[in-house]
Amino acid sequence: MHFGSSGQQGDASSSQLSLLPDEPFCEIMHIDADAFFASVEQGFAPPLRNKPVVVGGTENQRGVVHTASYDARKRGVRTGMPLKQAKKLVPGAIFLKGNFEHYQAVSHVLQDIYYQFTPTIEMTSLDDAYLDLTGTHNVHKKTGVEIASIIQGQIVKSLNLTVSCGIGSNKLSPASHPAGGNRMELPMCHPGWS
Ligand SMILES: [Mg+2]
Repeated sequence: MHFGSSGQQGDASSSQLSLLPDEPFCEIMHIDADAFFASVEQGFAPPLRNKPVVVGGTENQRGVVHTASYDARKRGVRTGMPLKQAKKLVPGAIFLKGNFEHYQAVSHVLQDIYYQFTPTIEMTSLDDAYLDLTGTHNVHKKTGVEIASIIQGQIVKSLNLTVSCGIGSNKLSPASHPAGGNRMELPMCHPGWS
């Protein structure tokens, strides 16, 4: 009885080749800007930087927090919290109604950056998107993680915004991760592991 006696199976070279991905696989990146509205406001008005900023309305208005800057979050302000409660937590916070035109303009810049890497993007909100990177290695000669890092760098450089990224084999698996932490901690769900 012979196993692999033809010489085409079972030798070292063919078993190594079998480890290479010979089937197309999906690689989806999720990108989400961190504290988007507040960060955009700080970008348009530098005096607001490194200060507790709350976007959602004036401090005595009925309503809830849409977004809080990191300085406000550190002191307990959260999205969805009543504005009055946010004021109690951070009496000196700067309260803003928000400016949709600013957010839309920045969103367009984000999209322009994403389109440099793939023609297939899906914006699920002004600052949240999925990028289909499937097959883009052949064009950019970069891994998905490398592309994520380049995108993060371009966004910081051009908009002074940080974005969280995650990569997976479908839209459900790439849980994004705050970029304010260690970028090397980018979560990577390898194709087929969801
Ligand atoms: Mg966001």
